[in-house]
Amino acid sequence: MENLTNINVIRDIFERHGFSFSKNLGQNFLINPSVCPKIAEMGNAVPGFGILEIGTGVGVLTHELAKRADKVVAVEIDSRLIPVLNETLAEHDNVAIINEDVMKADLASIIRENFQGLKVAVCANLPYYITSPVIMLLLESRLPIESVTVMVQKEAGKRLCAELGTRDAGAVTAAVRYYSEPKLLFNVSRGSFMPAPNVDSCVIRLDIKKEPPVTVRDEKLFFSVIRGAFSQRRKNLANSLSSSMNMPKSEVTEIIKTAGISENARPEQLSLEEFAALAEIFYDKF
Ligand code: SAM
Repeated sequence: MENLTNINVIRDIFERHGFSFSKNLGQNFLINPSVCPKIAEMGNAVPGFGILEIGTGVGVLTHELAKRADKVVAVEIDSRLIPVLNETLAEHDNVAIINEDVMKADLASIIRENFQGLKVAVCANLPYYITSPVIMLLLESRLPIESVTVMVQKEAGKRLCAELGTRDAGAVTAAVRYYSEPKLLFNVSRGSFMPAPNVDSCVIRLDIKKEPPVTVRDEKLFFSVIRGAFSQRRKNLANSLSSSMNMPKSEVTEIIKTAGISENARPEQLSLEEFAALAEIFYDKF
């Protein structure tokens, strides 16, 4: 196969297939030759693993995954890329391409039907506007996966990998920590892509936890408490929760105190255990 990080090779493929980049689909393709091998190596692309890739582009990462893992199933929304991928990935007999929107695809069935007897990991370089929804979809659907390795905007990476109790923490930090152990792997400069985006990126890996670190009776309520707590970052916890949970501030202040939390605490200072304690008291009130 020709080098898919070579701009001239990509241009030639595009010309022959009449393909042009779609801004709407966030098509910034990796052209830095060192990035995809690193994603594959750090993203569990090893024998014994099946890789679910999301967003293939011309198949530059798919190729590195297919060289290392037992099988790759790649979900790509853009039907114009399917003939391109049939050409660029022709040498691999362990790759299947599914032309679907990942947000609508039945990922549980895809995994069940394709990865029998294999451990499964997800690898993705996606448009930035859907990375958080895709990460949450993957985590919340409790798919039988070991890890999610994904390229994200540098700022988003900070938030996703932040420790709770620090300034970078947000509602998504708490959700990520509930389901996984996040790790920032390496930074990727904007010049590594064609066309170059306006921001720098980083690659993170979420190692999925077998069991959540805290036990709550109602997960939905637990996450509404977290989202509510972070909904107005400049307000303190009692004010934010009072409006999001639709309860008088005095009552919320009592709940916060009963959970053993200072009434002036800010949401980014709370641990998962403290959010769980709050959710359990709210549960008894509703
Ligand atoms: N992985 C390739 C690379 O690194 O060069 C392509 C990365 S490009 C940032 C994102 C890819 O995701 C594009 O090929 C785009 O068509 C695809 N994509 C966008 N939205 C998608 C969706 N909802 N479901 C599946 N693929 C999607």
